Amino acid sequence: KMSSLEPPEDHRICVCVRKRPLNERETTMKDLDIITIPSHNVVMVHESKQKVDLTRYLENQTFCFDHAFDDTASNELVYQFTARPLVESIFRKGMATCFAYGQTGSGKTHTMGGAFLGKAQDCSKGIYALVAQDVFLLLKTPAYEKLELKVYGTFFEIYGGKVYDLLNWKKKLQVLEDGNQQVQVVGLQEQEVSCVEEVLNLVELGNSCRTSGQTSVNAHSSRSHAVFQLILKAGGKLHGKFSLVDLAGNERGADTAKATRKRQLEGAEINKSLLALKECIRALGKNKSHTPFRASKLTQVLRDSFIGQNSYTCMIATISPGMTSCENTLNTLRYANRVK
Ligand code: ADP
Ligand code: MG
Repeated sequence: KMSSLEPPEDHRICVCVRKRPLNERETTMKDLDIITIPSHNVVMVHESKQKVDLTRYLENQTFCFDHAFDDTASNELVYQFTARPLVESIFRKGMATCFAYGQTGSGKTHTMGGAFLGKAQDCSKGIYALVAQDVFLLLKTPAYEKLELKVYGTFFEIYGGKVYDLLNWKKKLQVLEDGNQQVQVVGLQEQEVSCVEEVLNLVELGNSCRTSGQTSVNAHSSRSHAVFQLILKAGGKLHGKFSLVDLAGNERGADTAKATRKRQLEGAEINKSLLALKECIRALGKNKSHTPFRASKLTQVLRDSFIGQNSYTCMIATISPGMTSCENTLNTLRYANRVK
């Protein structure tokens, strides 16, 4: 059954889980697949006799979400039930946001479609492209054609609490808040786009910028949040915005004694922003009067997405299937569970 392009009225937050297949390395080392998806919205983490640490054993645990996708699900299928129902809201002056949350290597970038690891990977099947496709489709429908909307793309990275423009050679940008609490990323490049192809060119440009000068592509990208936005404007004024956020890896471990000072600071910053994100999304759902968006740079630049009657969010929590990732997987599932 196809989902509609209409945002669900009573449903401003959608939280889903996506399991990836065991990879070659895990298969070779005989890692066990401990995750099952017994129905369309249930995730089970299975009991094992194996010791996780000195003090405790794993138990069977069951989690419920809006949707759960097993390792056979395509990006298209995941898209149908997550970002797609939010697309039309931005034509009605809404703010839509889709987050990919999970440990490094669990499939966040694969899902978003921003993969670029040396070889130009096909990013045409990810959520960036699928959202763009529907945006340009809706733009040409009679209901919205007359609004004479223009579409712009932005792409930036948040690393260590600083914002860097991925469409402008990683230029460091200031974030300012005016008297009306409007948040601005000063000087952020907004590139006009007129078709999916042009959107993908932007994604590719941003990805190549993101990874340039880095010795280890994944080491860096896993420590930063990447924010890609499609912005609708009418007569030069903001009309609606779709933000697609490939979050920094949520894994712990950067706070061990072995980690360098730099790693510790990175880890602390990521923790802070992911906690702030959870609180802001929860506030969106509960219509609370206070949204703590100033608690991190990530939530501050996404302020528009959390405030207002017309904001919709979906989160795709990505998980690795292996026993060796169990602790991180449980952390991801618990976080996703508490977002709603
Ligand atoms: P992350 O961005 O969370 O660090 P990636 O998206 O880079 O993780 O995924 C890690 C690896 O696993 C990549 O090689 C990717 O192609 C693969 N992968 C991730 N999710 C899936 C999936 N659902 N199906 C097949 N391969 C996947
Ligand atoms: Mg990634």
